[in-house]
Amino acid sequence: MNEVASNEIELTTEEARVLGCLMEKSATTPDNYPLSVNALMTACNQTTNRDPVVSYDEATVEHALESLRAKALGRRVMATGQRVVKHRHVVEEALQLHVPEFAILGVLLLRGPQTPGELKQRTERWHTFRSLDDLEATLQRLADRGFARQLERRPGQKEARWMTLIVSTDETAPPAEPVDAQVEETPGAEPIPTAEPAPREERSLSVRNPATGAMLRDVAVTEEREIAQKTDRARRAHRAWAGRPYEERAELLRRFATMLDAEAEECARLTTGEVGKPIRQSRNEIKAVHERIMWNVARVGEVIAPRVVTQAAGDGTVGERISYEPVGVVAHISAWNYPYFVALNSIVPALLAGNTVLYKPSEHATLTGLRLVDLLHRAGVPVDVVQAVVGGGAAGSALVDADIDMVCFTGSHATGRKVATTAADRLLRAQLELGGKDAAYVCEDVDVESAAFAVAEGACYNGGQSCCALERVYVHDANFARFVDALVQVVEAYRVGDPDDDATDIGPLARAAQLDVLESQIGDAIAKGARLLCGGERIAREGNWFEPTVLVDVDDRMAIMREESFGPVVPVARVRNDDDAVGRMDDTEFGLGAAVFTNDRSRAEKILTRLDVGNAYWNTSDRSSVRLPWAGRRHSGNGVSMSEAGIRTFVREKSWHEQPLR
Ligand code: NDP
Repeated sequence: MNEVASNEIELTTEEARVLGCLMEKSATTPDNYPLSVNALMTACNQTTNRDPVVSYDEATVEHALESLRAKALGRRVMATGQRVVKHRHVVEEALQLHVPEFAILGVLLLRGPQTPGELKQRTERWHTFRSLDDLEATLQRLADRGFARQLERRPGQKEARWMTLIVSTDETAPPAEPVDAQVEETPGAEPIPTAEPAPREERSLSVRNPATGAMLRDVAVTEEREIAQKTDRARRAHRAWAGRPYEERAELLRRFATMLDAEAEECARLTTGEVGKPIRQSRNEIKAVHERIMWNVARVGEVIAPRVVTQAAGDGTVGERISYEPVGVVAHISAWNYPYFVALNSIVPALLAGNTVLYKPSEHATLTGLRLVDLLHRAGVPVDVVQAVVGGGAAGSALVDADIDMVCFTGSHATGRKVATTAADRLLRAQLELGGKDAAYVCEDVDVESAAFAVAEGACYNGGQSCCALERVYVHDANFARFVDALVQVVEAYRVGDPDDDATDIGPLARAAQLDVLESQIGDAIAKGARLLCGGERIAREGNWFEPTVLVDVDDRMAIMREESFGPVVPVARVRNDDDAVGRMDDTEFGLGAAVFTNDRSRAEKILTRLDVGNAYWNTSDRSSVRLPWAGRRHSGNGVSMSEAGIRTFVREKSWHEQPLR
């Protein structure tokens, strides 16, 4: 048989990914090979050992398989007694490759250009090369046949990379058209910021490490037509998923929780890498989310069980009962700051209640989002029941426009308004968790050291990037000076540094643009008479760093007291008494939470009852609990998540009126 040369084969990127996965699975998990389309889809979308990370749908994989068959590189397999068609490659025969060449070609197909050192490490599960020389000799054999070539060494690079030549580099397909919600302004309402034309969304999204600015991964963006296909598949999958007994769905979510636990450290590192959250805090979030998943598993079944309200009786009393049906296809558009909480607070109860979910992680937490979907699939949740949509604003907007039944959105007030307007126009159910500007009031009766510690934590945990972070602090005149001294001591002692280090308290900000916001708010405050007691500046190093900051002499007209800061910044003002505190705490457009620090519980209760917020905190702050409803008021949102009330968000009631015919 004659050897095939590279110029006889040209693969698209999708064909390359599908072929690479078939090759990998045949070499590394032969017991589970050949692969069904679903297994292949999971393999293609795997978030580890793939570059770029992609989220292909069934149609894309089917299409790639069809063309691989046309190019004589793949076959369908139908084993006797099996209902599912499976797929295998025939690369060794078609390309006449021996095991070492096969291993290198496979890894090049899956991860793009790589150095010999990287290839040696990454082919370990496929074939053991005795040495780098051995591997380089194999690369040379591939090059001689035109299957691979060495790239120019880049300045500063020790080793040159190698690429495969059988993948077409011609990416001529046009980028997805941006879809921005068309929003009409209501007379008198604050204008919705849609004036500037939406930027064209790139076909891939670069994930960077906010601590260093280094590029981590390229991830393929889900295009508008793919969103439509995914929605269609989610709708088709819905009936079967909703029809499963509750215990089956619960078992898959239990398995997911166990797997997340087992992979917690890897997941924490991934999140810290792309969001900049200090590693201890990433670990804490994953640990705490486990409890939330298990609470939902235990409670959703009970909450959505049908209820008899009135027993039918022979005297003509009509029987009345309520049943709960899933809403259908739920879109969840997520924020990056607590990627596990925010995503799973919606996805877990939605799935348990029998909905299918399309989940768009924030572009700043894409890898974490894809990892969650990957875990859900590996736990056994069918691939069409939960699907990822990757991208930024344009993908989010296209998802809201798609054929969904409900949208859960977590993000800023500005974007939330756009989402709400589109949803209202289509009478879609919308649940919105938006920004906040939570205030704390420190009374004169507290131990200032303890209060200062608690307030600083509430303001600076996760670098102040919480929707319910303390962003305004009011302190009673009588202990203002002592409290401020203690606060500055705590804030100055925070260890700012490498988020991967266990000792770090404050890492970088997740978004570079927020540095400008903080600078501008602080500049405005100082220009209007505020005094800086510590911090106040960017930290001069690669990445998005800002000093933990305390400001005093702030007044309520300053931007720093009105707009979300989302950074480690604590503005502190004096108040005369409780009435003064209540008036100023409530003088905001937001209504997420408020905290009172005092030794007198009933005083705190009186104050908190008067405030128009969804979350009341006595001597604590910046926390949420799966057992309590989470509901922002005014500009902080609409609807409820978590608790029994949050579970009901994901079902529709059906009322039954029943009477036997006489
Ligand atoms: P954004 O509003 O910028 O984005 C939220 C999500 O919406 C992202 O996935 C974003 O995509 C997407 N998006 C952007 N434009 C559109 C659009 N036109 N249509 C649909 N989706 C769109 O907020 P952040 O991600 O920066 O999150 C921080 C905000 O979230 C803060 O205001 C914070 O207070 C709030 N938040 C509220 C919580 C709560 O419980 N109340 C909890 C956590 C955060 P992308 O960013 O990927 O481009």
